[in-house]
Amino acid sequence: MRQDAHVYTADAVWRGMPGSTIVDGAVVVSEGEIAWVGAAVDLPAEYTATPARHFPGATILPGLIESHAHLSYDGRDGTKARSFARSAPNLVAVMIASARELLSVGVTTARDLGARDNLSIEVRDAVEEGLVRGPRILVAGAQLTTTGGHTWQNHARADSPDELRKLVRSHHKDGVDLIKVNATGGFMTAKSAPWFAQFSVEEISAIVEEAHRLGKKVAAHAHGVEGIQRAVAAGVDTIEHCTFIADGAVVAPDLAVIDEIVARGIFVCATTTWNLPAMMRHNPDFRPPVKLMYERGVKLIAGNDSGIDGVPHGNFAGGLETSVLLGIPEEQVLVGATSRAAAALGLEGVAGELAAGASADLIAVSGDPLTDISALRDLRFVMARGSAFIPDPVDVAAPDRAYTELMLSKLEGTMP
Ligand SMILES: [Zn+2]
Repeated sequence: MRQDAHVYTADAVWRGMPGSTIVDGAVVVSEGEIAWVGAAVDLPAEYTATPARHFPGATILPGLIESHAHLSYDGRDGTKARSFARSAPNLVAVMIASARELLSVGVTTARDLGARDNLSIEVRDAVEEGLVRGPRILVAGAQLTTTGGHTWQNHARADSPDELRKLVRSHHKDGVDLIKVNATGGFMTAKSAPWFAQFSVEEISAIVEEAHRLGKKVAAHAHGVEGIQRAVAAGVDTIEHCTFIADGAVVAPDLAVIDEIVARGIFVCATTTWNLPAMMRHNPDFRPPVKLMYERGVKLIAGNDSGIDGVPHGNFAGGLETSVLLGIPEEQVLVGATSRAAAALGLEGVAGELAAGASADLIAVSGDPLTDISALRDLRFVMARGSAFIPDPVDVAAPDRAYTELMLSKLEGTMP
């Protein structure tokens, strides 16, 4: 028996893949990794004397992956505008608090998709070094954008393929894990609109070529169809939002583009935020084609765009609840927040699954999240990279379920 090993058992262990539930399961953790997973009755003899903890009425599952976070925003109204005025040390403090909030709701891996001046690198390294607690963090640094484009205030602007190559190289030198490009405008930058494409195919291709040469993936923020098309043609790895929004904030999905996304194996992080139902109430034409993309075979991964105005990091579960309300089956939503997200982020075999050799990132929740996703709100245990964490209390709202269900029943038949 290894000295530091621990056994965790629960009514069910869900390993992160479709159909991977083990009834009365056990997970053995040792030296920061998962050493064994299986039915408790099959526990190898070498672990029968190992210290064990049982979670009655609970499910153990992989720690969750938030694929679209903004640690430099705190989720309160006006946070983005405030962030531009913060000093660099203050911004780092906000990011540390955000990371801890994510870990407190069971997120053990987070991808930061844009913060000013590549400061997120410092936060990633502080967590890595054990100075502060947080999820494993992959950082994009500042988002690549055009002069005056979406999030230009984060200081990564370029206007030609050569300038973009240089920016990718300097981000690489600074130590980012991936590159984020704003392929379209956004909702929250003045003089920007989400349906405007920002870069040409040639420009995005220069980013992708240079990033891939350096072993880094590319995430493309894209709302409007033209920007989505260009990002797909350039061969990005993930498309963020993918709302197919047109002038006037009307959603107009393009089936040919969706099928091309499927053919190229590009992952889509649809950022179904917890407050999306309320936004749909405000603008009934804003109905992201999440179910349509799922039904046509798009590989969806979970992201709450956490940190942006009105979306606290602590409400990651709310974003998953919204996906379920939009018609995605619970297990598929959970796969998108675990093993499929790990594949999209290049963390296969490390995060997002409970398997021997993977990092010991796991959570226990009361009940069965495969039948009721809101079970994720009742967290009983969090472990990140083999180290248990006592969550801070979080106080977050639930989605407007009654309204969403009413809306979805009205949509039956009108939305493919
Ligand atoms: Zn975002």
